[in-house]
Amino acid sequence: ELADIGVFGLAVMGANLARNAARKGFGVAVFNRNGARTDELISEHGSEGRFTPSKDIAAFVASIKRPRPIIIMVKAGQPVDDVIEELIPYLEEGDIIIDGGNSLFTDTNRRFHYLTGKKLRFIGMGVSGGEEGALEGPSMMPGGTLEAYQRIEPIVTKMAAQVDGEPCCVYIGTEGSGHYVKMVHNGIEYADMQLIAEAYDLFKTVYGLSAPEIADIFADWKTGDLDSYLIEITAAVLRKTDSTGKPLVDSIVDEAEQKGTGRWTAQSALDLGVPLTSITEAVFARALSGRRAHRIEAEKLLPHPEFPKRKPTAADIEAVKDALYASKIVAYAQGFEQMTAAAKEFGWELKLGEVSTIWRGGCIIRAAFLNRIREAYESGVAAPNLILQDYFRDAIVKAEPSWRKVVSLAIEAGVPVPAFTSSLAYYDGLRRARGPANLLQGLRDYFGAHTYARLDKPGKFHTRWSQDGSEVQTS
Ligand code: NDP
Repeated sequence: ELADIGVFGLAVMGANLARNAARKGFGVAVFNRNGARTDELISEHGSEGRFTPSKDIAAFVASIKRPRPIIIMVKAGQPVDDVIEELIPYLEEGDIIIDGGNSLFTDTNRRFHYLTGKKLRFIGMGVSGGEEGALEGPSMMPGGTLEAYQRIEPIVTKMAAQVDGEPCCVYIGTEGSGHYVKMVHNGIEYADMQLIAEAYDLFKTVYGLSAPEIADIFADWKTGDLDSYLIEITAAVLRKTDSTGKPLVDSIVDEAEQKGTGRWTAQSALDLGVPLTSITEAVFARALSGRRAHRIEAEKLLPHPEFPKRKPTAADIEAVKDALYASKIVAYAQGFEQMTAAAKEFGWELKLGEVSTIWRGGCIIRAAFLNRIREAYESGVAAPNLILQDYFRDAIVKAEPSWRKVVSLAIEAGVPVPAFTSSLAYYDGLRRARGPANLLQGLRDYFGAHTYARLDKPGKFHTRWSQDGSEVQTS
């Protein structure tokens, strides 16, 4: 019997997706460049379902029902192009290559059009949830043609996580839109994690709490507005001890690595002109963390403000929680604004209510909070910015005084909280009808004759700064 779907690439993600599909009753053809991985999957998990292992690509492709859906789960970048070229000679009209890796959306756009030209179909599918999600049910963000998606829908909606009876998988849109949405998801994940790290730093550095004491605080937050997977695993990581009995986190090197999706999100925001400050600060914070040798040197040379540590009161803890929550609202509002701008720029019809729906389960940023975003989009009166939607506006206004206090405290104590601070600066910039950019325009006109608009009359104007100082209308 022919397999329902093929999986090419059996490292942790591919192997777990293959097992996921097999456990849901689908016949799964499997292939990996290095056959040892295929053997390992079959020997360890072959009994979990109907697998058809192959050692050559021709046999692999021939073992799948037409039109063939083939998920490729290999290292992002050139390997995806290599695998596509290796598959093409064996594929037939209408077969569907599904790239489930973290590909850059512009690569997906290119591959989509390239394969369409060859009468093949291509789906760029963001998959979130890490190893465990891939096995137990990830959040899936497929982009391509709707009819290609409809061919794989019965399979992927069963593989995805389920929340309130709904699969965390929905058709996103054409071209690389699925990978774009996954990219922004990862960017938001960067911001979420940075905000958590800043709260941890305040408790540790300003209040002198130990890792297990901070774990208790995060465990407590798990039950409120902040209820989310990342808050839950923060408590678990902070509570873990190593073989010496000391908190593991105290021995982990403070240099964060990154694979690129956060950076891509920030780069795209710059291209689109979207003020994506929280995610971008999170990317920069990781970059600064990576300069450990410089930081060690700088700590010896630069004085640190004197700031006496004191145990936090219940109100102090609540204030940090408020600051975290308000900053998180800003990070999500910015990420959703970016997706809105991308949809307009690239001509995609992104349904952001559905995006927030499929992020509620399976993925790393899954959180109770996403139900509120979903409601905001479903209410039909989506404000231009999520912060202006009733629920979030009320929440952020309530948190605002504590947010300011926490940021001030951090600044006084010399503890960097770039995501808290930049989120608050964005909020303060957003809530003012008149900012200081009038002066920027005046300066630009002075040195570059870039012209300015006036509040009191229509048109564009230029002042002859270095001549007689008179103003002329230019349009
Ligand atoms: P890796 O990114 O480590 O990639 C290893 C796999 O790619 C192996 O199967 C390897 O084959 C294959 N491969 C590499 N180069 C080639 C090539 N030129 N031709 C054929 N096969 C090649 O694996 P992961 O499972 O970690 O991730 C797969 C994808 O999923 C990546 O895009 C990743 O970013 C994404 N992803 C990963 C998540 C995670 O938590 N790890 C979460 C979500 C997405 P071989 O065994 O022969 O070397």
